Amino acid sequence: MTLKGTGVSPGIATGPIHRYDPSAFVPGETALLSGEEADHLKRYKAAVKRAAAELEQIRIQMEARDPDKAKIFTAHGDILEDVAITEEITGKILNEHWDGGRAIHEVYEQFTGMVKRARDPLIAERAADFEDVRRRLLGIWSGTSRENLGDLAEPGIIAARDLLPSDTASLDRNKVLAILTETGGATSHSALIAKSFGIPAVLGIPDLLRSAANGQTAAVDALEGTVILDPEPAVIEAYARKRSGFLRAREEAETFRNRECVTADGTRIDIGVNIAGADDRELAEADFADSVGLFRTEFLYMGRDILPGEEEQYNVYRKILERFGKRPVILRTIDIGGDKPLSSMDLPKEDNPFLGNRALRLCFSHPELFRTQIRAGLRASVHGNLWIMFPMAGSLEDIDRAKSHVAECAAELEREGRPPGSVKTGIMIEVPSIALIADHAAAAVDFASIGSNDLCQYLCAADRMNSAVTAYYQNYHPGLFRLIDGTVKAFRAAGKPLSVCGELGGDPLAAPALVGLGLRKLSMASSAAPAVKRVLSRLGLAQMEELAKEILRRGSAGEVERYLKEQLGG
Ligand code: PEP
Ligand code: MG
Repeated sequence: MTLKGTGVSPGIATGPIHRYDPSAFVPGETALLSGEEADHLKRYKAAVKRAAAELEQIRIQMEARDPDKAKIFTAHGDILEDVAITEEITGKILNEHWDGGRAIHEVYEQFTGMVKRARDPLIAERAADFEDVRRRLLGIWSGTSRENLGDLAEPGIIAARDLLPSDTASLDRNKVLAILTETGGATSHSALIAKSFGIPAVLGIPDLLRSAANGQTAAVDALEGTVILDPEPAVIEAYARKRSGFLRAREEAETFRNRECVTADGTRIDIGVNIAGADDRELAEADFADSVGLFRTEFLYMGRDILPGEEEQYNVYRKILERFGKRPVILRTIDIGGDKPLSSMDLPKEDNPFLGNRALRLCFSHPELFRTQIRAGLRASVHGNLWIMFPMAGSLEDIDRAKSHVAECAAELEREGRPPGSVKTGIMIEVPSIALIADHAAAAVDFASIGSNDLCQYLCAADRMNSAVTAYYQNYHPGLFRLIDGTVKAFRAAGKPLSVCGELGGDPLAAPALVGLGLRKLSMASSAAPAVKRVLSRLGLAQMEELAKEILRRGSAGEVERYLKEQLGG
């Protein structure tokens, strides 16, 4: 039997299934007898106290190993103490005479549901944290202990509905051969943890727990997103061969991380890194790069009640600029909108958020938001090499308008006696309308970067977040490469720098074709860089140009992908 999901952390594994299904506590429905309320409230408070102590203990242990993951447990502590949740549970016990277990169960369910319904997938994924705190509290309430992924007796392939943050934090990476889940996407905790541990993971497999039995052998190919249950011996052998090939390639690729990226015939390719914040770990992982090719600044604004002010932003930007010195840091101005709500701003719901008041458009309608960020960037610019980039520019008017804001903020700072350094301004090419007039755009900006993620969604008319239309979101569509080809030609003619900072740039299959089209700068997640550097170092420019020419002649995404795999052995 073959199951299909999304491979979110590459790798191959075979081994026995270990079903992980931490017992779900079923609360009693009987109402409390009069007089029992105070006792249940006391028990609830004691459970909260004990849960807080457990969380603090895990947090301290994690702090030494991985400070980023430790933050998950600080967040759990905040949920535990949340005033609205506490009041709601207290009210259910005291006024509605609910059993404390039921009150915890249902109130948490209600809050988890609210978070899950957020349109921003990054916020919706946080529902797992609420679920995690609920399970912890109910475990304490009912006196049942949870199975721990740190205590597996034998190595196995974990099959779960979903993994919660505390499950994955304690996971023993030597015993977990692969992770399979029914739910969860590329930004879920399970995906992030699997990637950071280098454990193969296939998520979003419908009916996994109905199909996979404990101890049953499974062969997992997280490169393809497939799982074969009860594989034939020949399949197990083939997977073992594929696994050693994969591990060899990964090890070899890793040796490229800190090397210059040079093609086989000596052309230097600039490799940038995409970042979402300035914490020390993220910056240390980015250190090898030639630039920050994309700083997604919106993450500074998310998950908080008050917008970050100029001073706070200045300090973040300054830290990155100082660290990168002469190397460019491309700060993308806030890319937020109806699909990514901010708790600190009351943004109206839109029917088509991706076509709505998003990114630059939102900044134009909230100039104070835009100018606070620009001022912070300009002030920090004296500490490094700052390039400011506007997302979702669709017309020359958009470019002019954005540049005017920058010019006015710069003049303001001059008047205040704080003149900015020299700053380049540019755009993301992610709306087809601007790509099609790339010659005009190139004349109006200092640089641009192709946002292939959005360019693909707008070109193929397929929502990048909607799993029902994944098949229509075709990032090997020849039309996308044709659009990139035209853009590259226009920027070359104008002598302006152009890069790709969408997922396509970090894809070892697509990167050679992009270089073949004439790109000399690519930006990607730091984890993607070794494999991209490796493939580019093995090919000469003529070969890559041939690849590019060929794919521009193909008629479908399938043909392009097959051709690239044939040529590059992917
Ligand atoms: C893109 O659209 O390709 C891009 C890099 O930006 P984001 O993924 O943040 O929209
Ligand atoms: Mg984008």
